Amino acid sequence: MLRFLCLLVVSAVLADRATYHNYQVRRVVPENQEQLEALTELENNPNGLSFWSRPFRVQKAVDIMVPPHMLPRFNEIVASLNLKTEVYISNVQHLIDTERPKVRPRADFGWTDYYTLDEINAWLDSLVENYPNVVTPISLGRSYEGREIRGVKVSFKEGNRAVILEGGIHAREWISVATVTYILNKLLTSDDPVIQDLAQSFDYYVFPSVNPDGYVYTHTTDRMWRKTRSLGGNRCYGADANRNFDFHWLEIGASNSPCSETYAGSSPFSEIEARLLSNFLTSISDKFDVYLAFHSYSQLLLFPYGHNSDPVSNYDELLALGTAAAEALAKNNGTEYTVGNIYDTIYPTSGVSMDWVRGVFDTPYTFTWELRDTGKYGFVLPASQIIDTAEETLNSAVVILQHAKENLPRK
Ligand SMILES: [Zn+2]
Repeated sequence: MLRFLCLLVVSAVLADRATYHNYQVRRVVPENQEQLEALTELENNPNGLSFWSRPFRVQKAVDIMVPPHMLPRFNEIVASLNLKTEVYISNVQHLIDTERPKVRPRADFGWTDYYTLDEINAWLDSLVENYPNVVTPISLGRSYEGREIRGVKVSFKEGNRAVILEGGIHAREWISVATVTYILNKLLTSDDPVIQDLAQSFDYYVFPSVNPDGYVYTHTTDRMWRKTRSLGGNRCYGADANRNFDFHWLEIGASNSPCSETYAGSSPFSEIEARLLSNFLTSISDKFDVYLAFHSYSQLLLFPYGHNSDPVSNYDELLALGTAAAEALAKNNGTEYTVGNIYDTIYPTSGVSMDWVRGVFDTPYTFTWELRDTGKYGFVLPASQIIDTAEETLNSAVVILQHAKENLPRK
């Protein structure tokens, strides 16, 4: 009887995991204003469709995940609008099932697989233990569901200016978390003299997973979860923590509907995760000049702002620096990035962490990566691409850090 009950419980748990069998991701390119407006309308009333990227501009591709039961309706809609569509992913569940290696590598931690929050935290503990004079643990506080938001400070000497690395604010963007841990590891272990020099020239505050509830949820329950896990209105969970920062909050490119993927939260910093991160950054705001945030996907290197296209005071410097960084990124594998401010390069948006940092502290070097790929795998980038992705990303970060080192303090 007991065994039967156990089986029942196990199957209930397994059955509660979201699946995406035969969900397609369709790419649509609006070619005129009417099509663009219709897509925007559809995004506001998605009815089961999930927009992986947002309609914003004519000729700019939009990726939409379509459940199998919605395919006939979706096809009717695109036909009626004369929209051309392409099947970018034919079965999202297949990507999820093959995303990770069949056999977990034997090492405790590494970059040929994606790791759980507990495994990442255990690895952070091991760094503190193995580098006692260099690595110190940091806790931002506890998430909505009570998890510690963990990070570390890496400091080889006193008196350094600081760099912040932010990962995982969007739960499903696993490559962000893996890339941040990869860079952290290289700061401590690289035998490349350039990286060793940069590791020693700055202090680094590294937060691989600033939305731990969401990250855990993507591992246990729904691989495609993006938001936090706070309970909002209409029995919908979560807000987009990267629309929740108190800078031009909810002005543009964010939603006030609790069920939306880009719900900005009930008020600025309503999400404890965003609030705790902002509190910590405020407490060290006189110490850092570089803020690097990691997302996926699209292969973009972005700088402020998202709420309008007005150039920041060092726009030319950031554009040239971003372009040089993207060139360095392309060297290993030819991975092509587009560089620019958020508003013009991806889409208008507000309340994002990087813009808040720039707007409130006037931090001179703030960048956000939208990592691999350009849509073949989307958010479900195979673990076999982690090392190449992280290594090329590190190469681009090196360019930014070297420039910062040469140009700080700012006159
Ligand atoms: Zn993101």
